[in-house]
Amino acid sequence: MLLSKTGYFADFVAYPVLIAAFGVAGVMHAGGDGIIAAIATFLGGLALWTLLEYLLHRFVLHHLPWIRDMHERHHREVLALVGTPTWLSVALFLALVFLPLFWLTGFAMASIATSGLMSGYLWYVSVHHLVHHRHPAHSGYLYKLKRNHAMHHANEACNFGVTSRFWDDVFRTSRPAR
Ligand SMILES: [Zn+2]
Ligand SMILES: [Zn+2]
Repeated sequence: MLLSKTGYFADFVAYPVLIAAFGVAGVMHAGGDGIIAAIATFLGGLALWTLLEYLLHRFVLHHLPWIRDMHERHHREVLALVGTPTWLSVALFLALVFLPLFWLTGFAMASIATSGLMSGYLWYVSVHHLVHHRHPAHSGYLYKLKRNHAMHHANEACNFGVTSRFWDDVFRTSRPAR
């Protein structure tokens, strides 16, 4: 939805705090013996985010009524502060990630997986903000992603990944940027 400036930038304050809190709480709970499993779980959460980002963008943002209208507004007005309110994304993470994992695997792994997935989400909102609001140097990661995402704004059937092209390559929706 269209957010106020405070609402739009709240993600960049709330998520680093939540990522650190879940990460530290999870590691403390896992103890020294669980550190390898904790690192693997965190990285697994981060990797899983890239797939979720692709699926959510392709099938939710572009197809679900109301959400689709909001996303179309972003496609038309790229600089408008359209985004998901922090309270809503946090509530979804808690209800759909943390609580089910807590029930299935216990507090430590649920906290660390949530921290990893939230890190992926913060990475995604940061990259998406920067590709629209900054002009990165004509080489490097951010420039490539800016061109990749500009192609998605021009053709809504391709380039659903924002932080990487990996899943677009896997699902054959990748189109090279012009
Ligand atoms: Zn965009
Ligand atoms: Zn889109």
